[in-house]
Amino acid sequence: MSENVENLKEFIVHNLPHGSGINYDWLCEEELPIYDDFNCLIGIEFIFSNNFDTITENGMYCCEIPFTIKVTGKFSSDGNIIFSTEFKKFACNYFECENCGGADYSLEDYLEQLFFDCEFSLGIEE
Ligand SMILES: [Zn+2]
Repeated sequence: MSENVENLKEFIVHNLPHGSGINYDWLCEEELPIYDDFNCLIGIEFIFSNNFDTITENGMYCCEIPFTIKVTGKFSSDGNIIFSTEFKKFACNYFECENCGGADYSLEDYLEQLFFDCEFSLGIEE
């Protein structure tokens, strides 16, 4: 099963967005196994982190805004195939910056749209 976990993690990292302000490697912060009522491993919940680069009005990079995203992947009943991926909410800290504006709810909306658009949410689903 540990091989499946690695495959699942690779699949997710490969499909997380890159570019459009997200310019760093994805880091896996947490890996939480999900068990069913019979104590069988049925999936993994991952927390990934990255930073968002803000830009100023002049198009210069300004602030780095750390954020996290929770992704849940589940195995099929035969234990081999990823059958669903689930995009979950990220959390980022809000602050103001006089050069780029900092981070507020509009950034959260932007990131949410970015994850939605990257087709990751489509995943492999049944
Ligand atoms: Zn700034």
